[in-house]
Amino acid sequence: MSQVQCFPSGPFETNAYLLSCTETGKGVFIDPAPGSFDALTQAAGGIKIEAILLTHSHWDHIGDLKKVKGSFGIPVYVHPKDRENVIRPGSDGVPLMTKIEGVDPEYELKEGQILKVGHLELKVIETPGHTPGGVCFYLEKEKILFSGDTLFKGAIGNLSLPTANRPDMWKSLEKLEKLPPDTVVYPGHGPSTTIGDENWLPKAREIFN
Ligand SMILES: [Zn+2]
Ligand SMILES: [Zn+2]
Repeated sequence: MSQVQCFPSGPFETNAYLLSCTETGKGVFIDPAPGSFDALTQAAGGIKIEAILLTHSHWDHIGDLKKVKGSFGIPVYVHPKDRENVIRPGSDGVPLMTKIEGVDPEYELKEGQILKVGHLELKVIETPGHTPGGVCFYLEKEKILFSGDTLFKGAIGNLSLPTANRPDMWKSLEKLEKLPPDTVVYPGHGPSTTIGDENWLPKAREIFN
């Protein structure tokens, strides 16, 4: 069984997540947003945290990365196309609202890769568009998707940023649209939803272009 805990943190209320396997007591952090350190540390309590997974490199998703990584002594996973911006936050041209310290991620994510967290299996789905190295984490058995800033309840990620790419975003949304309708979506900002509730997805291009 999976347990998902969500901690909206920082100036953009970015969702930092703790995902854990209830049978094995193992877990991962996803997107340690600015100001999320205390909440994540407290929630981690008896859970053995094994890694930090990043949906993408924007500062509001990695604000407490260095602190969390240092405190837990765990490796960081990011897609190679967003890696540089984790090492040097803001190097992608997105202005930082606060000073963010970079880290050098240990592992790179790629399409179709399976990450194991106890008995849970997270499949990496590459979803560029909002950033070149944006990914979603899909738990097929549990019907859970961590969608980062690709898909929100009723919206998609900002496409006006320097490294955003519209055609890539439409292709990424087409991938998500094909997931089972009862897949629960945990986005990078705002409340959770399901793929079926976001029934506008096939028209995303017309709505957001
Ligand atoms: Zn973002
Ligand atoms: Zn964000």
